[in-house]
Amino acid sequence: TFRRANRISDISVSEIIKISTRARELKAEGKPVIILGAGEPDFDTPDHVKQAAHKAIDAGMTKYTPLDGTPEMKQAVCRKLARGNGLKYEPQNISVSAGAKQVLYNAFMATLNEGDEVVIPTPFWTTYADIIRICGGVPVLVQCPGENGFKLQPEQLAEAISDKTRWLLLNSPSNPTGAAYNADELQQIANVLLDHPHVWLMSDDIYEHIIYDDFQFVTPVQVEPRLKDRALIINGVSKSHAMTGWRLGFGAGPVELIRAMAVIQSQATSCPSSISQAAAIEALDGDETFLKTRAASFQERRDLVVAGLNAIDGVECRTPEGAFYTFSSCAGLIGKSTPDGQVIETDSDFCRYILESAHVAIVPGSAFGLSPYFRISYAAAKSELEEAVLRIQKACADLV
Ligand code: PLP
Repeated sequence: TFRRANRISDISVSEIIKISTRARELKAEGKPVIILGAGEPDFDTPDHVKQAAHKAIDAGMTKYTPLDGTPEMKQAVCRKLARGNGLKYEPQNISVSAGAKQVLYNAFMATLNEGDEVVIPTPFWTTYADIIRICGGVPVLVQCPGENGFKLQPEQLAEAISDKTRWLLLNSPSNPTGAAYNADELQQIANVLLDHPHVWLMSDDIYEHIIYDDFQFVTPVQVEPRLKDRALIINGVSKSHAMTGWRLGFGAGPVELIRAMAVIQSQATSCPSSISQAAAIEALDGDETFLKTRAASFQERRDLVVAGLNAIDGVECRTPEGAFYTFSSCAGLIGKSTPDGQVIETDSDFCRYILESAHVAIVPGSAFGLSPYFRISYAAAKSELEEAVLRIQKACADLV
């Protein structure tokens, strides 16, 4: 009989995937389902990036590359960090992987021993805790409620740090809340880290370019350069350049860490895709004006969804600074009953009700560690979002 390894015994397929599966079933039955569960831009990969990939294929760049990225790709990442973030890194400080996710995976595999702790501001992207557990680490979840803008407070960090803490994992702008830290807030967090030299910082900047209302994106090492020799910056082209399927992300950090991560990568995937690297160089070096246009388009959709949700009695939605998610409280609807008499006891119940009755797929806060909330991804067509908001409003009005 089949037996799973202990290391994945309490890791299951994510709630998001379960909801998508059910949404697809309903769609197959002919129901007009709107899926607002996915975490990817609805734009296409820019043409100039696609062209670079075609060229790479024609030029025979279809073989293994150096373990953690081609020299050209690493140089392109260095240029991006210098130009975009004011940070000086050398190619030996760069690791290129199959998506930002593999950068995270390599880093935790390469650094965590059994029982080592990683502090994660909560709500958080579900993957974080699962990767850490697979690597034998212990996620230390610090609740960051809506009253604090879903942001980690410096005192909370100080309290969460123990002798076993290896990393603080920050994600700004955040999946699932869209909350982003400004320079002052990052400086306060950095100050706590400066008091605890054994704690390293992982900064997941994947939503860097999806920001609104003149918000100024900064990465923590920019704010506090003294953290540079114990920080890993994670970024990629998946969200910025609508390249989720190309699987290309990168990390920048101290050379010892980068070398350790290469050991993991060498025995996992050998190298990132040669073609995707060629395309990503063009993405990083090429025209970037479309990033602002796309962010403006997301902002319009954000405003539509936030206003529509806040119009619902029992729902409260904070206006996010970035990413393409809203994270709303449904506390005011808990305890109410559906038209067929089922009591909404949890955010999962609420999301199930919305999917079954309004045919809109959304994800409960429990999947991200904070309830009773729900996440909507507004990386969908405006017309779909308008329709989805109307349906959610009606379904909520039907609750008694
Ligand atoms: N980091 C965060 C916070 C994300 O939300 C995601 C994707 O959902 C990723 C990383 C993964 O990026 P990639 O597709 O480059 O692996």
